[in-house]
Amino acid sequence: MRNKASIMIIDDSKFMLAALTNILSPFYHVHGFQDVMRAIHNMEDVSPSLILLDVVMPEMSGFDAIKLIKADPSVRDIPVIMMTAQDENSGSDNEVQCFMLGAVDFVLKPFKPPVVLARVRTHVKLYEYHKELEKTSITDALTGIYNRRGFDEMMHHEWSRSVRETSDLSMCMIDIDHFKYYNDHYGHQEGDNALHMVGQAIKNALHRETDIAARYGGEEFAVILPEVDGHGAEIVAAHLNQVIRDLNIKHEHSPVAGIVTISIGVASSCSIPHQDHLIKAADDMLYQAKETGRNRFCRTAL
Ligand code: GH3
Ligand code: MG
Ligand code: MG
Repeated sequence: MRNKASIMIIDDSKFMLAALTNILSPFYHVHGFQDVMRAIHNMEDVSPSLILLDVVMPEMSGFDAIKLIKADPSVRDIPVIMMTAQDENSGSDNEVQCFMLGAVDFVLKPFKPPVVLARVRTHVKLYEYHKELEKTSITDALTGIYNRRGFDEMMHHEWSRSVRETSDLSMCMIDIDHFKYYNDHYGHQEGDNALHMVGQAIKNALHRETDIAARYGGEEFAVILPEVDGHGAEIVAAHLNQVIRDLNIKHEHSPVAGIVTISIGVASSCSIPHQDHLIKAADDMLYQAKETGRNRFCRTAL
């Protein structure tokens, strides 16, 4: 069974927090906060799939709170349902304003518990589907690592950071040697199995949490190494060559070795004008590694 999703409730009334917790806790992990700033501070730890937010609070209004949430890219996609007491004069305006500020729904107090639960359920489900879809769209189905789209996104992100922080950024472009012969000899199914093993081995060979492995296309892989200089990238590349040899996947028709091997182009940079320069440089180095005998890496610095 899937883990329970987390819900964050922000309401200055202890009574209201207790009532909502009572309704929701059989189905969700409920985290109640009376203080907005403390809630926002704890957002990453709680990692809620939905926020229930009171409009009228003494320190900061729910309107100001949702503005803060929507301004933060790391949490702005979390659905917010706003709640306020019925008010003959301003109730309907509040409702409009909540939607204008990005809330997905609005609940009037006093509420009917089944209505709150139904609304929460709908939006938690939608959010979880959305997250799942987002993950699938950047994952390669065969190898389980990032796909080309994931690579493009991560590369752009890391390149921007390298420019912003004037930090090192290296990458490896990796290609399996004579893989056409492998497919021709062992069949496409075995070829797919080998690709899966190589992809997983590349990912597992990367030790830093910030390192990124992706399938670039076909039998090509790419590794992004944030904050790694040329010397560090060389160590990673040598390790990758060895890790793939250690898999010891038989490749009888390879002119290089009796096993599956890879060639790697390594490029290192620091705050370069465009990410494509790094990719092109790694590609050129890959070509050189192929030309000079395969089962090796070649490196350049920009
Ligand atoms: P080189 O050492 O120069 O890279 O030689 P190569 O044979 O690996 O290069 P080439 O680009 O000629 O062939 C790549 C082969 O990779 C062609 C194709 O059969 C195989 N390939 C690409 N994608 C897949 C895939 O998804 N599954 C399988 N099984 N094979 C694939
Ligand atoms: Mg290729
Ligand atoms: Mg190849």
